[in-house]
Amino acid sequence: MSAANGDDPLLARAAEEFGTPAYVFLGDRIDTRIGDLRAAFGGRFTLSYAAKSNPNPALLGFLEPRVENLDISSIGEMRLGLKAGWTPQRMSFTGPAKRDAELEEAILGGVGELIVESVDEAVRADRIARANDRRQRIMVRIGPDRVPKGFGDQMAGRPSPFGIDYEQIHSALPEILGLANLELIGLHIYSGTQSLVPGAICENYRNFMAIFREVCARYELSPEKLVFGAGLGVPYFENDRPLDLAEVAAGIADELDALRAEDRFNATELVLELGRYLVGEAGYYVTRVTTVKESRGARFGLCDGGMNHHLPASGNFGMVIHRNYRMHKVGGGEPVGKINLSGPLCTPLDKIGVGVNLPEIAAGDLIAVHCSGAYGMTASPVLFISHPMPKEILAVGDQLRDATRSLSDIWT
Ligand SMILES: *Cc1c(COP(=O)(O)O)cnc(C)c1O
Repeated sequence: MSAANGDDPLLARAAEEFGTPAYVFLGDRIDTRIGDLRAAFGGRFTLSYAAKSNPNPALLGFLEPRVENLDISSIGEMRLGLKAGWTPQRMSFTGPAKRDAELEEAILGGVGELIVESVDEAVRADRIARANDRRQRIMVRIGPDRVPKGFGDQMAGRPSPFGIDYEQIHSALPEILGLANLELIGLHIYSGTQSLVPGAICENYRNFMAIFREVCARYELSPEKLVFGAGLGVPYFENDRPLDLAEVAAGIADELDALRAEDRFNATELVLELGRYLVGEAGYYVTRVTTVKESRGARFGLCDGGMNHHLPASGNFGMVIHRNYRMHKVGGGEPVGKINLSGPLCTPLDKIGVGVNLPEIAAGDLIAVHCSGAYGMTASPVLFISHPMPKEILAVGDQLRDATRSLSDIWT
């Protein structure tokens, strides 16, 4: 893909003003996406942003007045959220292998809900809460026994470190309900993601609802919240069709309403928990070509950033075969032939694009990798080979703001 792109003036300006490699996040596009979600589901869901998809501090601050809840997966993310202006009450804490020190910091810090992923974790959280004279709100994460076909990433119906298997829930839940310093306020399921298939997404939510109904009926729970791990995907690759959100909403709205019409769920908040669908398509990774060379009949554009900043685009983040992310040459032009784009690392794994059909590429040109707003630098081996960290730029309207983070945001 190489047609002129409407974002190019902004991307060129960001590269010029702040340097490359750079992530550029477009706030306006996130606003549009949030608006689309609210319009499609018409208030049936509140939104929870999974910080792990992109915990950039400026982005967390941008999202704070726009999204109801922040889902954190570590104490580091809790600290980032607090610094960005989120109150702890609006945070939920998921993640396997939470250590006692993390549980203690979250509980004493007033985290809204702890998402309990095992009985052992619940027992430890209860002990910590009791020792500190607290009663901690929790939700139990259930690992369903199945997930429909059509999810790029799935973690259901197979052995899993996440949540409590649905098959074991009836031995686990009575024990958790017996822990006096924990208050069960809801249930949580996140079992698959990166689906572009509306029918599969609806089927998955239907399965969630069946589990929620069955568990709540058996224990006579009227939950305050039920969390639906959204699973909504983004079109990373050239032949991906963007998700039709209206079709998802049309396929499930009546059933969500039917659930809410039941006495038990009358006052229940249904929460859609998502990361990539909120911010993924709103971000570019911009890298500059430093050298163009020929090798045994192939052309190579060597770029100033690659796998070290963007592991997923290099194809090494859970991809079985390398597929090129959508990308274009900033400034556009007619495609003239295939070129391989690689990064600055001394490893053949550092491929940004293989045989990409692009306009003439020369040293100094900018390449923009699409769908890079989620699982970018924080999902990447940024310290490998000691290149500088990427710049991060948050664009709101035509204002560009340096949003480059530093590790000290988390650990001091
Ligand atoms: C990663 C994660 C999400 C977000 O997943 P996306 O694919 O980015 O939407 C939501 N909930 C939990 C518990 C997660 O671990």
